[in-house]
Amino acid sequence: MARYTGPVCRICRRHGLKLFLKGERCFGPKCAVERRPYPPGQHGQRRRKLSEYGAQLREKQKARAIYGILERQFRRHFEEAERRPGMTGQNLLQILETRLDNVVYRLGLADSRAQARQIVRHGHIVLNGRRTDIPSARVKPGDVISVHPNSRDSEYFATVRDTIGRKSVPRWLQIDPETLTGRVLSMPSRDEIDVNINEALVVEYYSR
Ligand code: SF4
Repeated sequence: MARYTGPVCRICRRHGLKLFLKGERCFGPKCAVERRPYPPGQHGQRRRKLSEYGAQLREKQKARAIYGILERQFRRHFEEAERRPGMTGQNLLQILETRLDNVVYRLGLADSRAQARQIVRHGHIVLNGRRTDIPSARVKPGDVISVHPNSRDSEYFATVRDTIGRKSVPRWLQIDPETLTGRVLSMPSRDEIDVNINEALVVEYYSR
């Protein structure tokens, strides 16, 4: 699959803010944004003014980077957001938030969305009693997310069980730290989606 395999900290530096793509490292002193708070590359420290289009493109790329999604799928999510009633930007964020890989990350079963994606792809996650290895699968209120019985006793999930109590879970989700079983309580509202994205710019980008 065509996906970005380069250094992800470069993406954060390009956008000039922490996108939390690496898990624990993002909270420590080794974070590249903390150490080199300017864009990457030879001309990274030059001043550059962004055009209106540039700002829209940058915002869309940022949203894609945060959720780890390729352009084609991201556009598909946008088209679905347009078809839904309500505000397209908020619909888009809701669609992105309710992807299974993001929910696994939000529940604290992974340190980053990339890790969550891998856990799902490797078949460790069960959605409503069925093993689901599709990261883009969508969850809805009432859905139950759990760890596959074969994986529950693995070293990885033992560590998760020990540390999950320290992580905060958004209001629209719930996790049982003992059984590592999560539940979707409601659809997330905009104020429950904790991402630094100006969704209006993303909508403007695709509406040109
Ligand atoms: Fe971004 Fe995390 Fe790298 Fe910091 S450590 S630059 S937040 S991916």
